[in-house]
Amino acid sequence: MKKSLLTKRIQRLEPSATLAIDAKVKAMQKEGISVINLGIGEPDFQTPEYIKQAGIQAIQEGFTHYTLTAGITELREALSQKFLKENKIAYTPSQIVVGSGSKPILYCAFQVLCEKGDEVIVPVPTWNSYVEQIKLTEAKPVFIHLKPPFTLTSKLIRQALTSKTKAILLNTPSNPTGAMVSKKELENIAALAVKHNLWIITDEMYEKIIFGKAHHISIASLGKDVYQQTVTINGFSKTYAMTGWRLGYAGGPQEIITAMANLQGQLTASASSISQKAALGALTGPTQPVEEMIEEFAKRRDIVVESLQQISQLLVTPPEGSFFIFVGIQKLLGEKYPTSTSWCEALLQKEHVALIPGEAFFAPGFFRLSFASSIENLQEAAKRIQEFVNED
Ligand code: PLP
Repeated sequence: MKKSLLTKRIQRLEPSATLAIDAKVKAMQKEGISVINLGIGEPDFQTPEYIKQAGIQAIQEGFTHYTLTAGITELREALSQKFLKENKIAYTPSQIVVGSGSKPILYCAFQVLCEKGDEVIVPVPTWNSYVEQIKLTEAKPVFIHLKPPFTLTSKLIRQALTSKTKAILLNTPSNPTGAMVSKKELENIAALAVKHNLWIITDEMYEKIIFGKAHHISIASLGKDVYQQTVTINGFSKTYAMTGWRLGYAGGPQEIITAMANLQGQLTASASSISQKAALGALTGPTQPVEEMIEEFAKRRDIVVESLQQISQLLVTPPEGSFFIFVGIQKLLGEKYPTSTSWCEALLQKEHVALIPGEAFFAPGFFRLSFASSIENLQEAAKRIQEFVNED
């Protein structure tokens, strides 16, 4: 057999399962099949008008060239204010790097902090890009398997520590579970990281999409020592419905942020100048459109939880944040559908509802449903899931 021309690093890379399902859905839609796509990981809302206008203005004013690699100063100043006001973290503008989405920002963080021989603790279920990006550094992801209600504790992290542990990954609220890490546990995790000299990479993309009494806390705000060992990552995609603008950012200790910006300088250079102006508009404009989107997510979340709870075979954990719910289907697996992948595939073929199987998040026996879809679609999808469950 001919030897692969690809590096081992790239041969080990798993393509995005979410994007693969999306491609399948698009192919079905092209054939004229009406699919309810609840696999998607992006808000179904339009980018608010005032943000679009800031982008249009940038184009009209000819703001269409490379910018500083770390991002335009005004945006990093606005982000510095945002971190202080909303997250209670004091990052100066030079401690902030802006990039083309939080995905490449995460990539830079892992590349700067991790290498062969290191271990990174990853609570699972988790978003698979973290795992692939950690593997690309040749460090080893070490999984902590969480069971519903997916509560992460410092005790579980302590049990996974070895002499090789270099970093802990946090994602609160989580994709795919919507679970949040409590303040008490964040304090304990911070103490653990300080004691063992570990990095914390915290992805806070869904910080504003939270429900009920839940309250987001940034671990870097919990003390001077943990602040020195944390990289806080965030982006505009989810909060402002700006996935296509590709804009993310990180704050952290100066040395790390400078190194991330240097790496970015050799990869993508600066993020889009137009998107940066739009993001500045997002931060400095009215808050009402975002509040309305969050209210709508909260309404949908309640409807989804209630309708799925009526299907007794499902294990439903109401999410505290994000626009995802991660539902257990162990009771429905057996001879006919041995895995959540086969179950989700059959649901797609028979009922035309697209969900993402738990395998994509290293948690077989579950599906992820995105409620970034209309209430009408969500109610119809729940009805079809019920019918599918009843059929078998
Ligand atoms: N972090 C989490 C937890 C996500 O779910 C996603 C997108 O699905 C991202 C980061 C990537 O977002 P961006 O569009 O900023 O690259």
